[in-house]
Amino acid sequence: MAPTATTPTVYVIGAGMVGLVTAFELANAGHAVTVIDPEPASGATHHAGGMLAPAAEVVYRQDPLFPLMLAAAGWHEEIFPAVAAHTGRTLGHRTEGTLVVAGDKADAAHLAELTDYQDAHGMSVERLTVREARRLEPALSPRIAGAVSLPGDTQVFPRMYAEALIDACRDLGVRFHAGTVESVTDEAIALRGGEAIDLVDGDQVVLACGLGAARIGGWFTGANPLRLRPVYGDILRVKAPETGEIVTRVVRGFVEDRPVYVIPRVDGTIAIGATSREDDHPGPLVGGVHQLLRDAIRLVPALEECEFLEATCGARPGTPDDLPYLGRISPRIIVSTGYFRHGILLSAFGARVTRELVEGRAPGIDISACDPLRHGA
Ligand SMILES: Cc1cc2nc3c(=O)[nH]c(=O)nc-3n(C[C@H](O)[C@H](O)[C@H](O)COP(=O)(O)OP(=O)(O)OC[C@H]3O[C@@H](n4cnc5c(N)ncnc54)[C@H](O)[C@@H]3O)c2cc1C
Repeated sequence: MAPTATTPTVYVIGAGMVGLVTAFELANAGHAVTVIDPEPASGATHHAGGMLAPAAEVVYRQDPLFPLMLAAAGWHEEIFPAVAAHTGRTLGHRTEGTLVVAGDKADAAHLAELTDYQDAHGMSVERLTVREARRLEPALSPRIAGAVSLPGDTQVFPRMYAEALIDACRDLGVRFHAGTVESVTDEAIALRGGEAIDLVDGDQVVLACGLGAARIGGWFTGANPLRLRPVYGDILRVKAPETGEIVTRVVRGFVEDRPVYVIPRVDGTIAIGATSREDDHPGPLVGGVHQLLRDAIRLVPALEECEFLEATCGARPGTPDDLPYLGRISPRIIVSTGYFRHGILLSAFGARVTRELVEGRAPGIDISACDPLRHGA
């Protein structure tokens, strides 16, 4: 039988980045929290690049997202030290910033347009000559055609950070229950295998299980209003040579208009990502692996000297308008999912707003564009 707590408890369903940061934020504020997940951090979080990139991601031209992304970047800066105070584990956060580079002249024109757009949105962006960019990152190819620096775009290693969050949550008394939720109502949470948790006065439930939220019933009548879809991304991991790091900053780039990024991790590995496809192939595709290696090596030729470690594929939880689903949908249930390609960055936003909702406060940021029921029948 799953634990039915005696003190008012917040049940967070899902222990991906969104559920974990939410559980930490709540527990750190003094709430009793139980996290339910059969396999924590096994979803998109396991595969993610982990770029905390409110400026670079402007490329997707989703204006309602910008204030949420900017706020999230600031909130991470507050949450990181709070997590570090409750765990001895490394968080995997790096603050060297990001360079965005162009593979050829057409890519440079694209980059110049993007930079104007970032400027217009008040992002911190600095145009560099190729020589200046190569002074910062000598491993960049001399053939690149343009570069900008985004000093405010940082990164975290999601696998490492998830482990640190779990440890910090345990330190704060968060309970982890290995179960799969099948349905949720204001009265009870039903788990696979017949377990049930009866909800009592003061209890709340946060549906923070990424794509899994589309398969949880009980809380709606008719069709599930959450229109979540998987957007697959192939991503690679390689190991830097013993001679030392190849790059210290995140290097993002365009090669013949295809985006690619290279992320140096604190453990000496490097992520190379990521494709974006909406087909029926949940595993990494040879074509995607080939494209990523070819484009990344074109920008950073020394990647050829790295040991190849793995190719994986994750499913981003996409929504029809690429905006998250975040808000209260009943007296006891809050939905927090659909963070698509920004869920590592936006986890701090989801966590902060969820805490405000749990505490009965109006969110300090406008979340009207994120109404979880907006795509319902
Ligand atoms: C290749 C790739 C690169 C990415 N790069 C970035 C990046 O650089 N920056 C960025 O901000 N974002 C990035 N993302 C997006 C980001 O990974 C996701 O938006 C984010 O991980 C979503 O987090 P989540 O916690 O909502 O979902 P997930 O990480 O998918 O976690 C969901 C969790 O819920 C659990 N679960 C599911 N169903 C149930 C159930 N019924 N009961 C209990 N538990 C359940 C699962 O076991 C899982 O642990 C990337 C994604 C991919 C695939």
